[in-house]
Amino acid sequence: MIHRATQTQVILLLGPPGVGKGSQALLIKEKMEISHISTGELLRDNIKRGTPLGKRFKSYIDAGQLAPDELIFDLLFNRIDKEDCRKGFILDGFPRTILQAEELQKHLTEEHALIALSLELPDSEIIQRLTKRLTCKQCQAPYHLLYSPPKSGGICDLCSGELMQRSDDVEEIVKKRIQVYHEKTAPLIGFYKSAGLLLSIDANRPKGAVLAEILQAVGD
Ligand SMILES: [Zn+2]
Repeated sequence: MIHRATQTQVILLLGPPGVGKGSQALLIKEKMEISHISTGELLRDNIKRGTPLGKRFKSYIDAGQLAPDELIFDLLFNRIDKEDCRKGFILDGFPRTILQAEELQKHLTEEHALIALSLELPDSEIIQRLTKRLTCKQCQAPYHLLYSPPKSGGICDLCSGELMQRSDDVEEIVKKRIQVYHEKTAPLIGFYKSAGLLLSIDANRPKGAVLAEILQAVGD
């Protein structure tokens, strides 16, 4: 891939729950020295600081309503135009719909090089990953019965607290989450595929191998 020095690399991570989007985002951010922008965090931060946009968001939340897309666009597009996004940025939690994807395309310029990475994992593996997660009730330390098991079953290595399973990691609920994911994300994957901007990555491998393929794809 041609990578001009003036280009701003825009990375989107698409993938089911449990595929490791969060940890890959952190690794990419470190390796490429680009910004990581989470719409959820941006929103919470603006509300906390009481910015004009934050106040507008809060009025919707307080009324139990969903904020209109325009507010999210204002918030996000202001953020990605900042100096620390010049080299590039990873978007987390955006876009979620075709409309949002189209608005993002309109906002980007020729200097932006966007790539949508679809991290793929068989459903059976997602179930395996999510239903075997445990969290310490006291210190929130994460464990996994296969990948990072506690030394003695059911007890936290760090604080001896009791380990528990998150209620949405129960198998029936995980299956439902996977179904919702496929329904919501399939159109987005189609959108980026037909724009020639999609790269599918086999995420059923160790983290390092997945990261290496991502870095190679973005030419870093
Ligand atoms: Zn603990």
